[in-house]
Amino acid sequence: MIVTDAKEGGLRLVAMIEAAARVLPFTGAGISTESGIPDFRSPGGLWSRNRPIDFQDFLSSQAMRDEAWQRRFAIDATFRAARPGRGHRAVAALWRAGKADTVVTQNIDNLHQDAGVAPESVIELHGNTSYATCLDCGLRYEIPAVKARFERLGHAPACEACGGFVKTATISFGQPMPEAAMRRAVAAASDCDLFLAIGSSLVVWPAAGLPLHARKHGARLAILNREPTEMDEAADLVIRADIGDTLQSIAEGAAAAGLEEG
Ligand code: NAD
Ligand code: ZN
Repeated sequence: MIVTDAKEGGLRLVAMIEAAARVLPFTGAGISTESGIPDFRSPGGLWSRNRPIDFQDFLSSQAMRDEAWQRRFAIDATFRAARPGRGHRAVAALWRAGKADTVVTQNIDNLHQDAGVAPESVIELHGNTSYATCLDCGLRYEIPAVKARFERLGHAPACEACGGFVKTATISFGQPMPEAAMRRAVAAASDCDLFLAIGSSLVVWPAAGLPLHARKHGARLAILNREPTEMDEAADLVIRADIGDTLQSIAEGAAAAGLEEG
C-alpha cells in the first residue's frame, strides 16, 4: 500500500490507468461535495443533521412519508443547483476515452449523467433522487409535480394510478438493493483490472464488498479519499487528498486524450 498526496498520486494514478485495459470507477458522496452536495459522514454532513428515515418507517406512517418528502423538498434547491465537478468530469473523460465502459455509483444525484456519461453506463446502487416512483406500480413522477400535489393536499400524495406510496427513486436503509444493478456491479468488478474507489468511506455494504471482490478477481485497487477508509490496507494506491485536485488533469481531458491515443 502506497499512501500519497494529490500531485504524486495523480501521476501514479494516470500510469495505473494507462496500464489498465478496463477501469471501473466506483463513486461515493465525496465526489459530489465539490458540487455543493454534502456527504454523509464528514463533519456537518447530512448524517449529523438528520438521521435517515428507514424504509420500514416510510411504509409505516403518513407522518413519516410527509417528513421524508419535506426533507426532500428542503434540499431540492441544492440538488438542482449542483453541476458536475472535476471528479465527475474526469470519470466522464475516462468513459469517453473507452477506458471505462461503466461507472458504479452509490450517489443519487445524477451528476455522472450530467457530466456526459450515457445513463445506461451508470450503475446506480442506491437509485436516483432526481425523480420519484410509485412503490407498487412503478409509475414515474417528477419532483415538482409531487411538490405541487403535496402543497395542495397538505400531505405526501399517493399514486394517482393505484394509490401506492410515492417515493423518490432511491434505496433507503432497510429497502432491498436493486438486484439487476447489483448483478451488473459485481460483474463489472469481476471484469475490471483497475478498481478506482472515489469519495466513499467504504463502510456501507456493498461499497465495502466490491473493491475486495475486484481484488480477488485480479484487479489493482486505487482509493481516492481525503480520510482513511476501511479498505486502505487492501489497496495498491491510496491518495489521501481532494478528489478534484487529484483528478484535475484527467478532468481537463489532457491525460484522458493521451490515454486514448496511447
Ligand atoms: P460517505 O459520506 O460515507 O463518505 C464520503 C467520503 O468522501 C468521506 O470519507 C469523506 O472524507 C470523503 N470526501 C468528501 N469530500 C471529499 C473531497 N472533496 N475529496 C476527497 N474526499 C472527500 O459517503 P458514501 O460512502 O458515498 O456513503 C454515503 C451514502 O449516502 C451513499 O451510499 C449515498 O447513497 C448517500 N449519499 C449520496 C449523496 C449524493 O448523491 N451526492 C450525498 C450524501 C449521501
Ligand atoms: Zn402506482
